[in-house]
Amino acid sequence: TCPSGALEDLTVLARGVPTEWTKTICSYCGTGCEVNVGTRDGKITTIRPSEGPSNHGHTCVKGRYAFDYVYAEERITSPMIRREGQWVDVSWDEVISYISTRLKAIIAKDGPDSIGVLSSARGTNEENFVAQKFARVVLGTNNIDCCARVCHSPTAAAMKMTLGTGAATNSLDEIAIAQTILVCGANPTDGHPVTGARIKQAARHGANLIIVDPRVIELNDFATIHLQLHPGTNVVLFNAMGAAIVEEGLVDEEFLRTRITEFEEYKKFIADFAPEKAELICGVPAAKIRAAARMYATAKPALSVHGLGMTEHIQGTEGIMALVNLALLTGNIGKPGTGINPLRGQNNVQGAPHMGCEPKLLAGYIPIEEARAQVESMWHVPIPTHPGLNMIDMLAAATEGKLKAMWAIGYDIVMTNPNTHETRRAMDQLDLVIVQDLFLNATAREFGDVFLPAASSFEKDGTFMNGERRIQRVRGAAKPQGLARSDWEIVCAVAKAMGHGGNFAYRTAEEIWNEVRSLWPEGAGISYARLDAVGGLQWPCLDEGAPGTPILHVDEFTHGKTTALRRIEFVPPPHLLSKEFPFLLTTGRNLYQYNAATQTSRTPNNGLYRTDFLQICPVDASRLGLEAGEIVRLSSEQGSVELPVQISDHVKSGEVYTTFHNTRVFLNQITTSQRDRYTKTPEYKVTAVNIAKLSPQPASA
Ligand code: SF4
Repeated sequence: TCPSGALEDLTVLARGVPTEWTKTICSYCGTGCEVNVGTRDGKITTIRPSEGPSNHGHTCVKGRYAFDYVYAEERITSPMIRREGQWVDVSWDEVISYISTRLKAIIAKDGPDSIGVLSSARGTNEENFVAQKFARVVLGTNNIDCCARVCHSPTAAAMKMTLGTGAATNSLDEIAIAQTILVCGANPTDGHPVTGARIKQAARHGANLIIVDPRVIELNDFATIHLQLHPGTNVVLFNAMGAAIVEEGLVDEEFLRTRITEFEEYKKFIADFAPEKAELICGVPAAKIRAAARMYATAKPALSVHGLGMTEHIQGTEGIMALVNLALLTGNIGKPGTGINPLRGQNNVQGAPHMGCEPKLLAGYIPIEEARAQVESMWHVPIPTHPGLNMIDMLAAATEGKLKAMWAIGYDIVMTNPNTHETRRAMDQLDLVIVQDLFLNATAREFGDVFLPAASSFEKDGTFMNGERRIQRVRGAAKPQGLARSDWEIVCAVAKAMGHGGNFAYRTAEEIWNEVRSLWPEGAGISYARLDAVGGLQWPCLDEGAPGTPILHVDEFTHGKTTALRRIEFVPPPHLLSKEFPFLLTTGRNLYQYNAATQTSRTPNNGLYRTDFLQICPVDASRLGLEAGEIVRLSSEQGSVELPVQISDHVKSGEVYTTFHNTRVFLNQITTSQRDRYTKTPEYKVTAVNIAKLSPQPASA
């Protein structure tokens, strides 16, 4: 913002000077930047950064400028039912009655477990809470899941198992005090730009920066060590760092004595992963592995951040456990500037499963059997006892003809899930597909029977939970477009039509939040009044006098005083390179676009990044006779896509990289069906591919 006022933001010049300002939270990544939304005549004209606790007056190009999707021409603002192949506008009364009748009929014929509900990180905590309550109370099934399944479920599972809480151990502010920062499988300057800027700043001020990534990323310019491993070998690398720490006597003896068990077993196991041996598998020179291990163990406090390059693997959960081992061995946990800190991808992807959008868990990430009595006494309805299906299993059940209906709230299944052909086969089997979104997404276009127009996060109230466990208020700055409604209002209307009005009689988002607080002890102290006063609180926050908890596991872990080191065997990715598929493909995000680009592709950001590119190194490009901008066909066992080439020395020979934002490229047509062994999160990060020339001349990209 120009301090003298001589320069004005283009958004204001184009749309007018705002007459009202509303403080809310960015609708994109899990950094959770607080923003001020300027409106004029009820419409958003500009967005400015706010002095929020997670962003301190900063935003990125997405948070500040990518809001025009709210007013996009393609936005659907009326409920619709597909009749004889055509979408027809209908009233809310008609669509609610239609859904109620169809769901009741499916339950009567095939049982409650023949229906699945997918909720979303695009929704607030309150909306996710209502979605899981609807599945359990109204439908009578635990078939409820959310988009965390395709990103950080392995993080939550691994950290819950090892530390007792499946969330970041420390806070973003502590990046500034860490002496060593380990960035694992994340590209923060593109994916989480405000956090990325803080990491850059810390490195500029002298922090050691260790990058663990198959590719060179922007942060490499500031890095001390780059551990450029082969895709899919995280477990080997972290085990090798553990082996070096043990062998070189760098273990934190006091922490070991008071907080860790099974060290002798770990020591015996890890000897097999000496860096000199690991080098042959992960491709990182042993000397570099040892140097990184020494730095992490001695230049303290050391903090790690990680992204989907850690989780989206067949050993996603185990990779995180191997990383946790390093923090435990070196005592880099429970203290300022330390810990294991997942960079959560979407604004509320920490909150969605935490509100119970997980087949085995209720609000507060509490296993169903632990919370059953309390929840049933409040709802006066039994929680289903039959185990629920996660999203991956729901699609498998659909393929087998066992799942008959799916309600997808803010989640484009077809565009987002890997191996699109397999996804389409599953969706094709469903009798009823309800899509609740802002746009007629690929799932709605191809398989939708009912479309429910949802309000955007600028048009509703509630809370989001960011990646550092901070609950922050979302406030409606503008009225919903057309007939669009908040997700929770839509779900509650269907619940009432299906005879459960008493349990869904909320008048405001705050009433829902108060029910969440009454069921989740660690959130009990976080009221709307406090959030309005202080701007955001980190759980655990047990009562309204508590300040919140920036650092977990200070004196003990959530599940007790000590925890065990885990012995993680390496399982090689099954995609062995072949003559037919000689390259390994990894994927990631770009600064200007966001995930399936449902929002950003309908904003000026689209002009800054119009297509996904295939990054290939100069040696491989020359060997294949490829030129920059040339369109190639990228094929895997699953299918093929076409996209332009970008020649870059950021990738190694034999490995290629692309983003996954563009609907025209539709990258998930070639990603694999391999899954994490614990959580079934897809292995988006390792696909064996072939590259074929299409055009003899370079094409304009
Ligand atoms: S860093 Fe993330 S939360 Fe902050 S403005 Fe950018 S996209 Fe939004």
